[in-house]
Amino acid sequence: MQRYFASKINDHVILGDDDVHHLLHVMRIKKGEEIEVVIDNTLYNALIKETNPLDIKINYQIPSDSEIKEEVTLFFALAKGDKIDFVIQKATELGVSRIILFKSSRCVVKYDDRDLEKKLTRFKKIAKEASEQCHRLKIPEIIGVVDINKIDPSLLSDINLVAYEKVAGSTNNFISSVKQGKSISMMIGPEGGFSNEEIMSLVAHNFSCVSLGKRILRTETAAVYALSVIASILEN
Ligand code: SAH
Repeated sequence: MQRYFASKINDHVILGDDDVHHLLHVMRIKKGEEIEVVIDNTLYNALIKETNPLDIKINYQIPSDSEIKEEVTLFFALAKGDKIDFVIQKATELGVSRIILFKSSRCVVKYDDRDLEKKLTRFKKIAKEASEQCHRLKIPEIIGVVDINKIDPSLLSDINLVAYEKVAGSTNNFISSVKQGKSISMMIGPEGGFSNEEIMSLVAHNFSCVSLGKRILRTETAAVYALSVIASILEN
């Protein structure tokens, strides 16, 4: 059944303009049909009472458990092309709570303020659509762009890991850190990797370096791999 993130006034469902368009003109929903809506992280069945004007009423709550209990944050560098779009979609499917975009010395991509505003709107839309598609109860928050040398401590988790290509090898440290079952942040570098100074500064700010295995992965592969491992450990 089609699912939408929504808000409510009493037991009437309020949808955003894009979702109203989708429901009426793409799904061609009819009076008497039912949809699923997520309101404040809770799933409901709802009834289309009228289409013109649109009136949707909450029917009943549906039990649902599609979220990872611990908060998972992905720090992802400003990567080239449409890699960020790809990673936001996959990270959302893999259950992250937050995606924090960062810039570092080896990022080739730069956004000015106007670009950033447009990009963030687009990234949030990708996260919302991916959350709907994979039946989540929560849309990950997208934060950006932070400077790798000035990360606000309030953005950090209980466990903060940086995947460092120069320690590529055993994944034991990575796995045992995740197994502690606490909130976790995972930082993945840009195509050019991290400088020594950046790693030193991250370590001074509570990050631990971990390896993602013996091979050097592309930045987008590294993000998907790390988040898959985290989800599979934390959901067990
Ligand atoms: N250009 C760099 C590789 C960068 S890979 C080089 O040739 O060394 C992009 C990012 O993916 C890295 O900054 C790191 O965060 C992550 N990554 C890829 N493979 C990794 C591995 N085996 N161990 C740890 N991190 C890895």
